[in-house]
Amino acid sequence: MPIWEPENECMSRDQLRQVQLERLQATLNRVYKNVSFYRRMFTEMNFRPEDDLTEIGDIERLPFTTSQDISDSYPYEMFAVPLREVVRVHSSSGSTANPRVVGYTRQDLRTWSNLVARVLSAAGVVQDDVIQITFGYGLLTGGLGIHYGAERVGASVLPTSIGRTERQIKIMQDFRTTVLVSTPSYALVVADRLEAMGIDIKKLSLKFCICAGEPWTDAMRGEIEARLLVDATDNYGISEVIGPGVAGECLEKAGMHLQEDHFYAEIIDPQTQRVLGPGEEGELVVTTLTKEAFPVIRYRTGDVCTIIDRPCACGRTMRRISRIMRRSDEVVVIKGINIIPERIGEILEQIKGERPVFQLVAVRHGHEDRLEIRVEVTEQLFSDRMREQRTLVDNMSRKIANFIGIRPQIKLVEKGSIERENGKVKTFVDKR
Ligand SMILES: [Zn+2]
Repeated sequence: MPIWEPENECMSRDQLRQVQLERLQATLNRVYKNVSFYRRMFTEMNFRPEDDLTEIGDIERLPFTTSQDISDSYPYEMFAVPLREVVRVHSSSGSTANPRVVGYTRQDLRTWSNLVARVLSAAGVVQDDVIQITFGYGLLTGGLGIHYGAERVGASVLPTSIGRTERQIKIMQDFRTTVLVSTPSYALVVADRLEAMGIDIKKLSLKFCICAGEPWTDAMRGEIEARLLVDATDNYGISEVIGPGVAGECLEKAGMHLQEDHFYAEIIDPQTQRVLGPGEEGELVVTTLTKEAFPVIRYRTGDVCTIIDRPCACGRTMRRISRIMRRSDEVVVIKGINIIPERIGEILEQIKGERPVFQLVAVRHGHEDRLEIRVEVTEQLFSDRMREQRTLVDNMSRKIANFIGIRPQIKLVEKGSIERENGKVKTFVDKR
């Protein structure tokens, strides 16, 4: 199978490190100059990009960027170029919090389509293919992201978008689709419907199924391949970073090659925030190296995986990430209950009208595990009458218990008393 950009995708690790360092320096300088969020962060910690980044590992001194930071900058505060240079805007769906809005310059769109072209080529797509894209075309990055990459490869693109499975199947038959782009579960919906309609799969032209958008397993891959008679590959994208095109599997199907010349990836322990080594399971953190309109520094994706640094038989030198195993914000488990700190934050926000600084602490009394939630309150509330404090505590405890099923112990603490690391509060501490 051809490699889309062999000079980049197969460069030596030494050369890659040099490229990463130069691009990271340029990115840090750009955000320091143009994004007040990062200028504030760097100034607070007395970090000067031109002096203080001499090797790529120096990035570990910088704090993380969170999805909350991006929500807080709604809509354009974290853009690094004036709006007139932005030619495309995408956004997360956003339920309770502000959606996360991202922008692209003309050059960003060129980079993006090129990266998606790499991923599609690695998955087997060539110019002769007819590629049917069943992702939504809208503010989310999935549909348009894959679309422009497929055009870049030179394949014939069928932008069928989501749903209407029988129509998708008619198009698949009549237009002789060779590549299906879908979520893994939708690929199986298509397989079910084909079967129900009595269509002989061998009469279709399908060769590849390119899957993304939800966690899946090797068993699902096996089923998709057996029932649709395709090679099925996994790819990874996240709109805060760029969209699809961050990483994708080659036909070795042994992990997704990270586009490391455009993204610097780290794996951290989501609780201690310590950087982990290859093979260790943790949260993926990504720094963009070439984005113009919306660069992010150490963005916590919330996606848990491992980095694979063994060489790959395909010849690409870019390291791989494993399948995404789960979300890191689901890891607080107490008495078998999964507790998502972000949801607790939302409940506290509803009660107090603004989001307080808070921390979940798991403690063990004898054989019993308990959840303690420490909430920072203003000096004024702290010195208020006991009764008002008690009402607030009861209210918080009850609302959270309704939501998670166990009653936490709420401790009101003085503003600034919860420990911070690089200016960021640790949302979970495990004392069991
Ligand atoms: Zn490979």
